[in-house]
Amino acid sequence: MSASLPDPGPAANPAERARWLRDQLWFHNDRYYNDDDPIISDSQYDALMQELRDLEAAHSELRSASSPTQIIGGSASDRFPQVQHPIPMLSLANAFDRDGLEAWHRRVTALLDGQPFRMVAELKIDGLAVRLVYRKQPGENNAKFVLGATRGNGQTGEDVTNNLRQVRNIPETLVRDHPSVLEVRGEVYLPLKSFERMNKERARTGEPLYANPRNTGAGTIRQLDPDVVRDRKMKIWVYSLNYTGDAPMPAGHWEALERLESYGFRVNPENRVFDTVDEVCAFYDEMLHRRHNWKYEADGVVVKVDSLTQQDALGFAGREPRWAIAYKFPAERAVTKLLNIEINVGRTGSLNPQAILEPVVVSGATVQHASLHNEEDIHRKDIRIGDLVEIERAGDVIPRVIGPKDRYSPEHQNLPKYEMRPDCPECGTEVLKEAGEARHRCPNSTCPAQFFESLKHFVSRSAMDIDGLGERWCRILIERGLVSDLSHVYGLKQEQLTELDRMGEKLATRILDNIESSKRRPLARVLFALGILHVGAEVAELLAARYSSIDELDEAGIDELSEIDGIGPRIAESIINYLQTIRNWDTKSSLERAGVDMRQELAPKDPTNLPWEGQTFVITGTLSSMTRREAEGKVKALGGTTTSSVTRKTNWLVAGASAGSKLATAQRLGLTVLDEHRWLSLLENPEMIYSGSLQELAKSSGATGQASLPFGP
Ligand code: NAD
Repeated sequence: MSASLPDPGPAANPAERARWLRDQLWFHNDRYYNDDDPIISDSQYDALMQELRDLEAAHSELRSASSPTQIIGGSASDRFPQVQHPIPMLSLANAFDRDGLEAWHRRVTALLDGQPFRMVAELKIDGLAVRLVYRKQPGENNAKFVLGATRGNGQTGEDVTNNLRQVRNIPETLVRDHPSVLEVRGEVYLPLKSFERMNKERARTGEPLYANPRNTGAGTIRQLDPDVVRDRKMKIWVYSLNYTGDAPMPAGHWEALERLESYGFRVNPENRVFDTVDEVCAFYDEMLHRRHNWKYEADGVVVKVDSLTQQDALGFAGREPRWAIAYKFPAERAVTKLLNIEINVGRTGSLNPQAILEPVVVSGATVQHASLHNEEDIHRKDIRIGDLVEIERAGDVIPRVIGPKDRYSPEHQNLPKYEMRPDCPECGTEVLKEAGEARHRCPNSTCPAQFFESLKHFVSRSAMDIDGLGERWCRILIERGLVSDLSHVYGLKQEQLTELDRMGEKLATRILDNIESSKRRPLARVLFALGILHVGAEVAELLAARYSSIDELDEAGIDELSEIDGIGPRIAESIINYLQTIRNWDTKSSLERAGVDMRQELAPKDPTNLPWEGQTFVITGTLSSMTRREAEGKVKALGGTTTSSVTRKTNWLVAGASAGSKLATAQRLGLTVLDEHRWLSLLENPEMIYSGSLQELAKSSGATGQASLPFGP
C-alpha cells in the first residue's frame, strides 16, 4: 500500500491540503498500527498530524468526525476474534516542549475553574497498549486473567489472550484483597536485549534487520503463535485501573497505581506525583537525561490529573482525554557523511531517493540509510553527495536527512550539485517529471521494480489482504516467473508453491485459501488494490459509493469523475489513463475471469429523496450494531451531515455506550439524544425525523446514551 494523492504542496488551498494530509495519515496509520511496519519517523508523522489539526482549527468546514485527528488509527485484524471495549481505549494529546505542557496546564486549570490539582507523571512506554480483564469465578478467592485485548480502533480490538498469557509479568492470578472483576491497561513491550538478540541472529543469517523494538514487539503480540511471544521474553508495565465492578474505584490515579502493585501487577518505579509544572519539568529533564538507561524504550513522559473526580469533570475531546498529555522526548540527531544517493522505484513508478550514509550510532542503533523525501527537497536543502549531513532518528524508525551541516562552507560549495539521473535505474527507461509533481517517474508500466511494488501493494492487508503472501514471497514468485501480472496470483497451484524453497504444504494451503477468499473483497478494496496512480483508500471508497463496477466507472468521462466531491481533475485524469491502457484493461479482465468480484449492488440512492438534508448529527460512544464510521456513512447516505463537536446547531446526538463529554454538552444544551435503539428505529424509518415522535420517545424513554454494553468477555 502507499499513500496515493499527489502532494499539492504547503501553499495548496486548505481543502486540497487537508485531503492530502488525511490520505498521508491514513496510509501511515495503516503501516504503523496494522502492519507494524512504519516508513516515516514519529516526528514526521506528528508534524503531518499537527498541520492537519491546525488547518481544521482554522477552517471549521474542514472538520470531520472521520478525520484522523478524531479517530484512532488502528484496526482489529480478522486474524483474531474481535472484542468490543466497553470503555474505549483512547490516544493522548501531545506536547513537544515546555510551552505545550504549560498551555495544557492552563487549559486544565481554567476548565476546573481554578481548582488546584495534583499530577502523576509516568514514563511513556513505547510498546503496544493492551487491556486486561480479571474475574473471580464462583467459589474462588482470587481473580484470574480472562481476557487480553489490543486497542485496535479504540472501540474494537483483537482478543490476544493466549499470546498475553506468555508475557512475563502478566499475573495469571491476582493476590491480596482485590475486586471480583477488574480491568487494567498497560503497555506490552519487547525488551531491548531481546530485540538486539533477534537482530544479531538475523544479521548472521543475512535476513533484513527489524527496524525497532516498538513495531517488532507489537507484531509479536499480533501474530498467531504464543510460543514466539514466550521466546521473545515480552514484558508489561501496567499504568491504569479502569473498572472495578461493584467495588469502589480509588479516589485518585496514584492510589490506583499503588493498588495495582499490591494486586501483583508490574508498575513502573519511575512514576511520581507532583503539584506544579516546574516539578513535572524537572522530572521530564531527569528522565530525558536517563533515557538510555532503561531496558526498554520510552518516548516521553505522560502527565495525568490525579483525582478521578477531576478527570471525570474534564472528560474527553475527540479521541483524547483532556486530563492527560504526553510530553514527548525530542527526536535524536547525529552528523555523518552522505556517501551516495540511490534511487528506489515505487509502485506507481515514482523515483524515491535514499541516502547511503557512513554508519553512525543514533539512539543505540547503527544507521546506514536514511530517507531523502524527493528531488525537490534535495535541491531546496542543497544536499550534495559528500556532504556532512545531520540526520534525525525519531521513534526509532527510518531516519531522515535534515540537511547539510554547513551548506555555506567551502567544502560543501566545492561538491557538485545533485542531479537526478535521466533514466530508471531498474529498466533504463527515460524518466519524466510532470508539472506539479515533486518526484520523477518511470513511465514504463512493465518496469520490474514497479511490478514488484504493485504486487506487494495488491496482496497487502488494506488491499486484497492475502495473508501469508508477504514481500519475500512476492519477490520469489516474480523471480521464478510464476507471476508477471496481478491476475496470475489467482492461477497459482499448490504444487507450484510447494516446490519453492521453505514453503511447506501447510503454508501453501493457507496462502491458496487466502487467495480464494480475497476474490470476494468489496469493490473499493479492489479499486485500491489495482494501484491506480492517486487512487488511495479514500478515493477508492468515493468511487465505489458511486459506481457499481469498473465497467461503469470506465463509462464515466473525466468531467463526470472530476465533479465528484474529493476527486478533482488530476485524479480523474489518472483513473481514465489507467483504464485506457490496454495492459491494465487486460489485467482487470483476467482478474474478472479468475473470479475476482468486480461488481457490487449500490444502495438505491434517489437524490431527490434525501430526508435528512439540513440535519446535523454527532455520533459518540460505542454502538454495538455498527462502527462510528458506518453510522456516519448512513447519515450521509440520507443527506445529513455529521460533525465532531456538539454545538447549538447540532440537531441530533447519537450516543452509544460510554458516551462522555459530548453527551453531557448535548444534555446541557437541551438537544435530542438518541440511544442505540432509537437510532436503529430512525434508520428503519428515516422520515420519522420530522414527526416529533422521536423527540417524544427519546424523552419518555429517558434516553441518556448511557446504554451500557455487557462488561468483559
Ligand atoms: P500515543 O502513543 O501518542 O499515546 C497513547 C498511547 O500511549 C496509549 O495508547 C498507550 O499505549 C501509550 N502509553 C505508554 N505509556 C503510557 C502511560 N504511562 N500512560 C498512558 N498511556 C501510555 O498515541 P497513539 O494514538 O497510540 O499513537 C500516536 C503516536 O504514534 C504518534 O504521535 C506517532 O508518534 C506514532 N505514530 C507513528 C506513525 C509513523 O508512521 N511513524 C504512525 C502512526 C502513529
